[in-house]
Amino acid sequence: MQVIILGSGTCTPSKRRAGPATLVKAGGLNILIDSASGTLRQLENAGIPYSSIDLILYTHFHIDHIGEFAPYIFATKYAPGFYRKAPVRIMGAEGLAGLYEGMQKVFGQWLEIEPDKIILEEIPSHMPCAMQIPPIIIKTCPVLHTPQSLAYRIEDEKGKSIVISGDTDFTDELCEFAKGADLFVCECACPENDKRPGHLTPSEAGRIAASAGVGRLLLTHFYPACDDHDAALSCRKFYDGDVTATEDFMCFDI
Ligand SMILES: [Zn+2]
Ligand SMILES: [Zn+2]
Repeated sequence: MQVIILGSGTCTPSKRRAGPATLVKAGGLNILIDSASGTLRQLENAGIPYSSIDLILYTHFHIDHIGEFAPYIFATKYAPGFYRKAPVRIMGAEGLAGLYEGMQKVFGQWLEIEPDKIILEEIPSHMPCAMQIPPIIIKTCPVLHTPQSLAYRIEDEKGKSIVISGDTDFTDELCEFAKGADLFVCECACPENDKRPGHLTPSEAGRIAASAGVGRLLLTHFYPACDDHDAALSCRKFYDGDVTATEDFMCFDI
């Protein structure tokens, strides 16, 4: 399995960081988690053709995480040369279909999904779920950010696992959900001295990683104020494993 950080930032425009998006390669599938504005270009710059994305998972519906939901659909219709053998599956919590319908009303025929290209699927957001997408298994867990916020756990056929927190505050459920993961990609939006409800500080991310006993911790989703602080240092007070404060285009194999 492989993780590529396509965007380590937030909604705040930044020269250093693109908005939230992560690519996971697992079981021969290319899985995109969230798509901030600019993600399609980040994919190109990472050498991953956007037509090779098999599955898109949305952690929640804040605009910095779904910025290229509509542009992606548009590109599957009108970008010359777009071709896929199987439709792309786009998944998110309950509300995904309503979000699409609202946007489709605004953009009309230009955003009508062609069923041979895209399938939208909603995931219950009030309880943990698991789905088989051979050869991988995807599990979800509600997290503490908005009522439609999900963390994802991707397990491959060799038993390796990656957990993506999405945006969240500290929850015991996330500690349990991330248990034993080989790699934990965790949001860390706030600097240590500026905790905001609905997001994590480095020490909170470290406490979750330590409680879950994950193999490696990647911190992401940094507001610009975080760039003046050493997030990994604060995190290590609680978690003694390998911690990386990520930058765009960093790539990790497990
Ligand atoms: Zn959010
Ligand atoms: Zn966010």
